[in-house]
Amino acid sequence: MPRCHAGPVADAVQAGWSIDLPGEYCRRCGLSIGPSSATERGCSRCLEQRCAWDGIVRLTSYRAPMTTWITAMKFRRQWSWAEWLGDRLAERIDVCDNATIVCPVPMHWRRRLARGYNQSALIADTIARRKGIQSAALLRRRRFSPPQTRTTATDRRLNARGAFAVGAVDLSGWTVWLVDDVKTTGATLSACCSHLRQAGAGRIHVAVAAVADPGG
Ligand SMILES: [Zn+2]
Repeated sequence: MPRCHAGPVADAVQAGWSIDLPGEYCRRCGLSIGPSSATERGCSRCLEQRCAWDGIVRLTSYRAPMTTWITAMKFRRQWSWAEWLGDRLAERIDVCDNATIVCPVPMHWRRRLARGYNQSALIADTIARRKGIQSAALLRRRRFSPPQTRTTATDRRLNARGAFAVGAVDLSGWTVWLVDDVKTTGATLSACCSHLRQAGAGRIHVAVAAVADPGG
């Protein structure tokens, strides 16, 4: 573990924090669930509203101390958190063979220029390195939009519509791990999945550090 994470993580573990076990969240939509409340096809929520992806791996819900670590990674230039989060996600990813590729949710070039890096790409690169597979920027963001944290759920859906494009790639026969730091409404991930499916992707799995529960 990089030294800068040793203190915060050790403190959080001492205070009772831990990475979620697979049974603590729905492996389809990623939302927190009670014991034994998910079926093979997902929980009651995602049976009503089908996810655009086939499965999800998360570390925790979007709550402290993960919120603090993600904020530090995104806004305080502590990008080494991306490596720590990517390592933890890689430990939980089992669907992986030589027809599997990792793809980050893209950031608009204006934001990347201002921030200096795309934290989702850093997480994706770490996962790919640990799993011995490729990470590729298959998607690009066409439109600059306000930070999703400052928008409503409806705005997020509208912002995501038409915001992405996929390059000239043929993903037939490929499994894609789509990587982001946080899943909020899922609108961004759904829009990305739609483009990856258009390019021929067979199975799409999502890996995120945290998932925001409704009303959480
Ligand atoms: Zn679900």
